[in-house]
Amino acid sequence: MSSTYLALHNIHQKFGTHHALKDVSLDVAEGEFVCFLGPSGCGKTSLLRIIAGLDLPTAGKVNQAGTDITYAPVKHRDFGIVFQSYALFPNLSVEDNIAYGLVTQNVSAPQRRARVKELLATVGLSGSESKYPAQLSGGQQQRVALARALATSPGLLLLDEPLSALDARVRAHLRQEIKQLQEKLGVTTIMVTHDQEEALTMADKIVVMNHGVIEQIGSPQTVYTQPKSAFVASFVGEMNFLQADVAGDRTLKSGDHTIEFNGLLDPKQSDIQVAIRPEDIRFFADQDGENTYAGRVAHTEFLGSRVRSTLKLDGIDAPLLADVSMNEMATLNIEAGHPVYCQLPKDRLHVFEGAK
Ligand code: ATP
Repeated sequence: MSSTYLALHNIHQKFGTHHALKDVSLDVAEGEFVCFLGPSGCGKTSLLRIIAGLDLPTAGKVNQAGTDITYAPVKHRDFGIVFQSYALFPNLSVEDNIAYGLVTQNVSAPQRRARVKELLATVGLSGSESKYPAQLSGGQQQRVALARALATSPGLLLLDEPLSALDARVRAHLRQEIKQLQEKLGVTTIMVTHDQEEALTMADKIVVMNHGVIEQIGSPQTVYTQPKSAFVASFVGEMNFLQADVAGDRTLKSGDHTIEFNGLLDPKQSDIQVAIRPEDIRFFADQDGENTYAGRVAHTEFLGSRVRSTLKLDGIDAPLLADVSMNEMATLNIEAGHPVYCQLPKDRLHVFEGAK
């Protein structure tokens, strides 16, 4: 996974006066699984449509496998696509749906049958050739759509929210299957999603978008542990935010508290937010130690493998969320109404300038 397969250069997209994509540049390596992640309206589908040639950009270039395809007609492009809404032909059998692209490529009937058989085995639907879309569940229809997208062995697989119409159990299952299939085939893949869990579990690289710009590009681990902006920190995973002021090179002030920080701070920075993930807050039996504050558990919520408590720390206005395991909860006596001492470890803090 090294050479660039798809490159986007300074893409802009305007719809009337609305600037939907602003100077978007991105390299996708051969065989990479990239997720465009962001809230509704951030421009992820617009970007995918430009890559597929379904829309032309207002400005910028798209390069695939060394060729400028910015203005290439869809039929001359090398990609397969799966939409959220399956988009199968209802009047065609599963076999004819999957073979559709092969017919247009003049592949012989016996070769088409063999390829469809192979693809149905790949997506776990062997023997479904003669069924019609209406006879299949949503998950099965999406597998057929995936088989159809892969039929011509495209260099690029585009997935536009392929799992969002499915129920949670099918979605989790198919998520794993698509990831395994993509790794096995090694096909360069771009998936649009607004679901951070989907992006974190499936992507090699996440492109976090907001208001038509890329906020951060990085591996799931990097985006989660080193978010570049308050927006990324709040959109990917849970994050607590505290309004703060810079009080020294490595010291912040929030409410009545001084908070020590690992990195160097700039005294000129204003509108600062200190942030910490719920799983990074530590509980202690007394107030000893840096960044440790007294408070109370406001309430707890059972999340299965862990417990989420809402904390009210003395001298800090905003409630904080903290996650602990069931074992820790019992040992540390974390219960609604109980007093606690909580540490915001300085090496787990993030500092951002500007709002979320
Ligand atoms: P969603 O998850 O809701 O699909 P998205 O991140 O995919 O959101 P886009 O569909 O790319 O967002 O839309 C980006 C912005 O551009 C939105 O404000 C949308 O209303 C606008 N937009 C998209 N397509 C058009 C169009 N054909 N004409 C006018 N505005 C459009």
